[in-house]
Amino acid sequence: MTRQPHLHLGLCAAALGAAGLLAACASRAPAPNAAHAPLAAARPGTLQACADLAARAALPGTVYTAVTEVPAGTVTVGNVAMAAPAHCLVQGRMNERTSPVDQQRYAIGFEMRLPVAWNGRFFYQANGGLDGVVVPALGGIGGGGPRSSALQMGFAVISADAGHPGSMGPRFGLDPQARLDYGYNAVAQLTPMAKNLIAKAYGRGPDRSYFGGCSNGGRHAMVAAVRSAQQYDGVLAGDPGFNLPKAAVAQLYGAQQYAAVASAKTPAGQPDLQSAFTPAEMKLVANKVLERCDALDGLADGIVSNVQACRAKFDIQTAVPTCAAGAAATRDGMCLSAPQKKALADVFKGARNSAGQPIYSSFPFDAGVSGANWREWKFASPATRDAGAVAFIFSTPPLADRPQGLPFALGFDMDRDAPRIAATDGVFRESALSFMTPPAAADLGALRDKGGRMIVYHGTSDPVFSSDDTAAWYERVQAANGGDASGFARYFPVPGMNHCAGGPATDQFDMLSALVDWVEQGKAPASVTATARGAGTPVPNAEVPAGWSAQRTRPLCPYPQVAVYTGGDTERASSFACKAS
Ligand code: CA
Repeated sequence: MTRQPHLHLGLCAAALGAAGLLAACASRAPAPNAAHAPLAAARPGTLQACADLAARAALPGTVYTAVTEVPAGTVTVGNVAMAAPAHCLVQGRMNERTSPVDQQRYAIGFEMRLPVAWNGRFFYQANGGLDGVVVPALGGIGGGGPRSSALQMGFAVISADAGHPGSMGPRFGLDPQARLDYGYNAVAQLTPMAKNLIAKAYGRGPDRSYFGGCSNGGRHAMVAAVRSAQQYDGVLAGDPGFNLPKAAVAQLYGAQQYAAVASAKTPAGQPDLQSAFTPAEMKLVANKVLERCDALDGLADGIVSNVQACRAKFDIQTAVPTCAAGAAATRDGMCLSAPQKKALADVFKGARNSAGQPIYSSFPFDAGVSGANWREWKFASPATRDAGAVAFIFSTPPLADRPQGLPFALGFDMDRDAPRIAATDGVFRESALSFMTPPAAADLGALRDKGGRMIVYHGTSDPVFSSDDTAAWYERVQAANGGDASGFARYFPVPGMNHCAGGPATDQFDMLSALVDWVEQGKAPASVTATARGAGTPVPNAEVPAGWSAQRTRPLCPYPQVAVYTGGDTERASSFACKAS
C-alpha cells in the first residue's frame, strides 16, 4: 500500500512545533496492514464482590443508589425478554447538579451489570435517540432481533442516560452542560468510573474495553473512537448519526419537500406528510430500484448489494412512470406526479440551502424505501423528534420561543436558521457541530496506533442517517491511511436495512464477536454473515419478502466490496463472495 508519512509529519510538526518530538510523532504514520498485531486476549475472571461494592468503589461525585445481586434469568428490554447470566446490578448517578442557566436538576444516571462469570472485558453500551433513559445494560451486538448480548457473552456492561432525564424531552438543550454531557462528556465521565467498578468487583480492571451502539449510539461510538481512543480497544458503530445536527436539519428540509406535495391535511389543518407518498407509491419506487439494480450483483434476489453501480443505473425521472396531469389524484401506485418526483429527488440528493450548498449528505435509492421504519422517520419524525432537537439542543441560541412541532419544521429557514448548528454565544460556548460530532472524524490515528479496531455498519435504506455519509467518511479514513484503512477499520453496508434494523434485509448479525476476534486474535473480518428474520423466527421482521426463506443468509461485505452471487443455493451466504465492485 502507498504510505503518506510526509502528511503526518507535517501535521505533527505544525501541532508540536518542536523538533525533539518529531521522532515520536513520525511513529503515528500508518503502519502497513501486516504490522497490526492483535492485542493480548482478555482473561476470564470471577465476580468477587457485589453487596459491598458501593463502599469498595466509592468515588467523589458518584452516588450508588442500588446494588443488587441478580440471579440468572431474563431481563426485559422493551417487550423482548433477553437471557441474562447471574450478575451484580449497580445503579447510580454522577455529577448531580443544579443548572445555573435553566435551574433544573441534572445528573448522569447509569447502571452497570457485572456478570459473575466474567470474560475479562468491558462494554460501553451507547444508547439511541436523545438518550435520557438508562436502557438495561445488556450490550447490543448489532442488527435487529436480539439473540445474544454482550452481558450474555460475559462482558461487564454499562448503560447511561447521558446526563439528563427523558422526561425533559429535548429541553435539556437549554442547559449548556447538559448539551456537552449528551454530546461527549457523559462517556468521558462514565468510562473511568466503570473501570473502577470493574477493578473493585473482580480484583482487576478490564483486559480489553469495547464501545458499541447504533443510531445516536453509533454517533457516540464514532465520537469515542476519536475522543476516547486511549480508553477503548474496539469500537462498533451502527448506523452512526455522526453528523447528527446536520441530519436533523435535513429532516426538516425533507418535511418541507413532503409538505409541498401532501394531498391531505391533518385535523389541525396542517399538511399531512404521510399523504405525500402513499405506501403503494413508495413500493413502486422500491420495485423500480429493483428492476434497475437488483441483478447488478449477479442475482435478482430482492437485495441491491451494489449501491455504487445502482447510482448510475437508477434515475427516478426515467425509471418511474410520470402520472399524467390531473391523474395523480387517483394515486394507485402506478406512477408519481412530476412534483412528487422532484420532492423525492431533492430529498435523496441531500438537503441544500437556497444557494444550492449542501447541508447534509445524499441518500442512496434502495429497495428498503418502502419500509414502515422509512416512513416513520421521513414523515413522522421531523415534527416529533427533529423539530425539538434542532430547536432546543442544536441551535445556538435555542429557538425555544417558536411554535414547535410541524410548524417549526416547515418554518425553518435553510439559509438563516441552519447556520445556528455551527454557532456559539456567551452561554453556549460549544456549537452543536462541535459537541455532537467527532472532532476530525477521519483521524483514527490514536485508535490505530494503540492496536485498536473499528467496525461500522449501516443500512443502505436508513432514512435518517445516510449510508452515503458513512461511505464518504470511510473514503476519508482510507485516504488518511495511504488508501487502505482495512487493517484497523472496516465498514459493512447492510443492503435494504432501515434504521438499525428492519426493511427487506438480512438484518441479524453479530458484529461484536467479529470485533473481539479482530482485536484479540488478529482475525480481520473478511465478511460477516447476516440472517433474515422471516415468519416463524423468534423476533420476526414483517418486511422480509414472502419469497425469501425465513432465515436466508447473506455475507455482509467490507466496503467497497459487495456480495456477488457465485452459484448454488440462492438462500445461503455460501453461494456469495465479497468482491470488488
Ligand atoms: Ca441482488
